[in-house]
Amino acid sequence: ITTKLAALHRDATYFSLEFFPPKTSQGFSNLHARLARMAHSLRPLFVNVTWGAGGSTSAKSLALAELTQRSLGLTTCLHLTCTNMSRKLIDEALEQAKVLGVRNILALRGDPPRSDEYRAEGAAVGEDEDDSNLEFTWAVDLVRYIKKTYGDYFCVGVAGYPEGHADTSHPEHQGVGLDLPYLVEKTSAGADFIMTQLFYDVDAFLKYENTLREHESGVFKEIPIIPGLMPVQSYQILRRTTKLSHAKIPLNVLKRFEAVKSDDEAVKRVGVDVLSEFVDKIKARPDVRPRGFHFYTLNLEKAVAHILERSSLIPPYTPTIIEKNGFTSPEGAI
Ligand code: FAD
Repeated sequence: ITTKLAALHRDATYFSLEFFPPKTSQGFSNLHARLARMAHSLRPLFVNVTWGAGGSTSAKSLALAELTQRSLGLTTCLHLTCTNMSRKLIDEALEQAKVLGVRNILALRGDPPRSDEYRAEGAAVGEDEDDSNLEFTWAVDLVRYIKKTYGDYFCVGVAGYPEGHADTSHPEHQGVGLDLPYLVEKTSAGADFIMTQLFYDVDAFLKYENTLREHESGVFKEIPIIPGLMPVQSYQILRRTTKLSHAKIPLNVLKRFEAVKSDDEAVKRVGVDVLSEFVDKIKARPDVRPRGFHFYTLNLEKAVAHILERSSLIPPYTPTIIEKNGFTSPEGAI
């Protein structure tokens, strides 16, 4: 990702699309077809593949990464969580990513670590879990581990929270300030980019970005900060995802959705309007170049395609070497 960013023109914009691994083989083949279409028509700079906390989707996440990176030739960023995971599973995931040609990892904590009470209550370390698990309490532990083990082989991203971290185990969990020292730690440990939690308060994002850029540590001066946007599929999903992530919906934005809340198609249209306005507002900041956007697609195509078109984020079509030579790959990939 950093290599691709360095090759972009200073005034360029770019975007990434996030997908989660489907549960069934039918779901996989549907997503395969959709991904091939989206890759061709939307041309993301890279795609993200999510990871189930604790490794719950490890095989499926790696299968999806194989599809995106190998079969479709899309630069892939594999998410990897580290708490409640054995070092063996982390090592296997990283080795497998390497075999697949994946060069980017989003290093995350995942669910909060199991409490000391849980350990004291008999699930003794060593009985049913590998005690190397204790090495990984925070995302920074994974960033350090990847950098120590793989040097610069992997480009490593970390999560940022424009409205504070939604971790309810912290009494002041909504404060951006509470999380900042740890983001400094993750960045100083070698993170190459920051990708944010979803938000619907664009001013909160812009303020957060300013706070980072002006931070006394100086570690955020150059690092790409990629805002996370989730296209709106329905009023219910909007309310549920914002509740889970503790993202505020400013009253003026909420009113627009509430006015049409029982009509999913109208909600989607309002969502496209709102998110396109966010993109325009973020793009208008002159000092951040090139400017990127990350879209949580929920594996869906239409809403994100409309936002990308409306915001002129789709890069011009350039034929691949394969296409220039007049043939396509056996899979029919682009
Ligand atoms: P950390 O950076 O470790 O921070 C977690 C909390 O602990 C924060 O409140 C922080 O302030 C605090 N903290 C950090 N270090 C310390 C320290 N040394 N001492 C005390 N407190 C500390 N989850 C998944 O399971 N799978 C995914 O694929 C996934 N993708 C995501 C993608 C993005 C872009 C984002 C923003 C989140 C994603 N998540 C995913 C959710 C993420 O795993 C959770 O938000 C998790 O609760 C925190 O992860 P983190 O990497 O931010 O953790």
